[in-house]
Amino acid sequence: MGSVLPSADYITPTHGDYALFSVGQRPRVPRHPTGVVLAQNEAQVVKSVLCAQKAGINHVVPRAGGHSYEDFSSQDNAIVVDIAAINYVTVTANNGDTGLAKVGAGARLGKVYSDIFNQGGFNFNGGTCPTVGIGGHVSGGGYGMVARQFGVAADRVVSIRMVLYNGTIVVANSTQHQDLYWAVRGGGSGSFGIITEFVISVFKTTQNAMFKIAFDHTKQKELLAAWMRYFPSSDARLTTQYNVDKHGSTLVGQFLGTKDQVQKMIQDSGMLSLGGIKEQTWSDNCNSVGAKAFMWTSSCDRVDILNVPTYLSQNDKEYSKSKSDYGSVLLPQAGIDAVVDGLANSPDWAWIQFEALGGVFATIPTNATPYVHRDALFSMQYAVSMQKGQDRTAPNYQWILNYEQSLKPFVNGQHYQNYCDMDIGPNYGVAYWGQENFDRLKKIKPRYDPHNIFRSEQSVPLQ
Ligand SMILES: Cc1cc2nc3c(=O)[nH]c(=O)nc-3n(C[C@H](O)[C@H](O)[C@H](O)COP(=O)(O)OP(=O)(O)OC[C@H]3O[C@@H](n4cnc5c(N)ncnc54)[C@H](O)[C@@H]3O)c2cc1C
Repeated sequence: MGSVLPSADYITPTHGDYALFSVGQRPRVPRHPTGVVLAQNEAQVVKSVLCAQKAGINHVVPRAGGHSYEDFSSQDNAIVVDIAAINYVTVTANNGDTGLAKVGAGARLGKVYSDIFNQGGFNFNGGTCPTVGIGGHVSGGGYGMVARQFGVAADRVVSIRMVLYNGTIVVANSTQHQDLYWAVRGGGSGSFGIITEFVISVFKTTQNAMFKIAFDHTKQKELLAAWMRYFPSSDARLTTQYNVDKHGSTLVGQFLGTKDQVQKMIQDSGMLSLGGIKEQTWSDNCNSVGAKAFMWTSSCDRVDILNVPTYLSQNDKEYSKSKSDYGSVLLPQAGIDAVVDGLANSPDWAWIQFEALGGVFATIPTNATPYVHRDALFSMQYAVSMQKGQDRTAPNYQWILNYEQSLKPFVNGQHYQNYCDMDIGPNYGVAYWGQENFDRLKKIKPRYDPHNIFRSEQSVPLQ
């Protein structure tokens, strides 16, 4: 991952850094904003929101880590307020096993994980990619490797600060602006205002056993069936992802306990006895920040991977196309056939990732936050590589559209907002949040953004 030092704090189309900052990290969809403010503090966020409207630009877009799959954190003819530099992380309360941390909403997850660990040995239940920004991640939910025990990242947000369209700053939590507090924990990133700060509840996970087991392609269908039967209903301390491509598959996971205990569980799943193991890496007694590093490096010692730069470089941009689905029932054999046989016809690089739900998810009501997918058993994220400049007509894009169709009979119609996908079409609100939560989000929207200043193709609409 590269790092850059911008030479200005307001980037317009004639500036040399415009190509870099006009779009996020996933710029497959071309975007041409009027300007990009690289805000250094909350006062500059307020100023940007007000100045944009004074200049007649009634469209403002927040950007934190810039990882939106559809590049929603940039929009044509809008002012992008990039808050990557608002990335402080301070543990403000330490009660032993739990604590609170104030986090600038532009902080990348790698920095959040390192800083809360260095300030008291704490952990947080966010996603695996160190360069994802907490701003967008929490706004869409946030699934990571302790999710089956602690839920999504949004579940442990205690309070937020937000800059509204008129420059007002509001604090939303369980006692003030409760509706807004509910909405921003998984509902409609960039729809209400610009979050500048989160207060998150942090915790300790002192025992972490990590593992990665790579299989060859010979028993793909049997392995997937075994994963599905066992892991979405296993002990909540165990969270796994199962990644499949046409060359083989990898089971990767974190268990909040010992290696011996989790090895027994994986034996019980039946996956190990199917054979075809190419490689396995086990780590016992990993600390919680080492566990984050393991997900990218297969080593608990490589915590340097979490040293993320504030601004990423042009080389970090990536053009793949992703989609997601949720399953409420185990895939039948025909569904397993569709997953594996479809991949066999995939272009150069294509991949599907299963994430186990169950555990704590199954205990949280579907309307507790906008993140509705509590009663699903698993999610599926699938992706295909694309080249810069390619659009829907590219063979790779056509492949993923066909793959999606082949999986449709076996999934529940829900999609994950953090794996956003413009192909969902006008029904995105129900697909991301469910009808009841979407209706509530639509009622909250006009109270905080009455002129629809904060919008993207899939924001909460103003009605
Ligand atoms: C390599 C990679 C790995 C990933 N791994 C995981 C994973 O393990 N688990 C998981 O759940 N997801 C994962 N994701 C998806 C990721 O959570 C989403 O893409 C997320 O929305 C990115 O947040 P961001 O701040 O980086 O992106 P941005 O593009 O900056 O923002 C995404 C959306 O949130 C809005 N937004 C951003 N900041 C704010 C703010 N401060 N206030 C209001 N709205 C804001 C933006 O306007 C935009 O609509 C991954 C994505 C990538 C590219």
